[in-house]
Amino acid sequence: MHPDIIEIVKRATSRYINNAVLVAAPSLLTQNDMIWRLEDAGCDLVCISYDSGDPVTMAESRQIKNIIGDMRDAMQAIGKTSLKTMASVLIWNDNYNRLDDVCKSAAEMGFDFISLNYPTFSESHVYTLGGEGVMMSREKVIDALTDAIRLKKARKYNIINSVVSMKNIINYLNDPKTAKYPCFGGERVLFVDWFCDVRPCMQLENIIGNMADIEEGDLNLPPCNKCNMSWYRDFSTFFCGFRSLSAFCETFKNATRLLSEK
Ligand code: SF4
Repeated sequence: MHPDIIEIVKRATSRYINNAVLVAAPSLLTQNDMIWRLEDAGCDLVCISYDSGDPVTMAESRQIKNIIGDMRDAMQAIGKTSLKTMASVLIWNDNYNRLDDVCKSAAEMGFDFISLNYPTFSESHVYTLGGEGVMMSREKVIDALTDAIRLKKARKYNIINSVVSMKNIINYLNDPKTAKYPCFGGERVLFVDWFCDVRPCMQLENIIGNMADIEEGDLNLPPCNKCNMSWYRDFSTFFCGFRSLSAFCETFKNATRLLSEK
């Protein structure tokens, strides 16, 4: 929805920064030549929020009439470009025990990849996500992630979450002390808010600095284990020295498989 999204993508691309544009309202993609402008700007990936393949459930959960119809139109138009697409699937009360169905419908919609997000268990109130739909027990999230690992190993869908990270989150949810990979929010992963203030993540309230004057040396927060937020913890599994070998091996194997399938 940002009026300068194309300029932001162009600047990222010109600095060799891989970028993904996440859209919750797919009709935005079919207005103002947005898809073609994103392609021209060098966007790597268009992600669309996808909670369910059922049009009624989807319209209710996102409060957008005909959202699935809009998505079909957008996907059809994207199919005529070089842009890659990813369904950003939230695990919630409606689908936690039917991930196979939601992944199948996302694949049928034409998405190249699927990423799974899941409810965050955190004591922080800085950035609360979701509503009743994500008020789930840890056990339900563990069941869903166990199923996601099964689907990923069966290679039924192009799920990008790594098995290494999903197992780490299951361990965290069972007992935080057993999480093998800590989170490097504030050192390797960051959140930049709309004032260009740089924060370790969306859960911690400390501001490390501002984009205009922050220095590399400022990014030295200690490893953290305060929540299970996928966006920060998934990337952090790559920065744990020798322990990260399994994360790299899994990524390498997946990349090789995808290339061989092309
Ligand atoms: S575990 Fe990561 S995402 Fe969660 S509070 Fe700590 S730094 Fe932030």
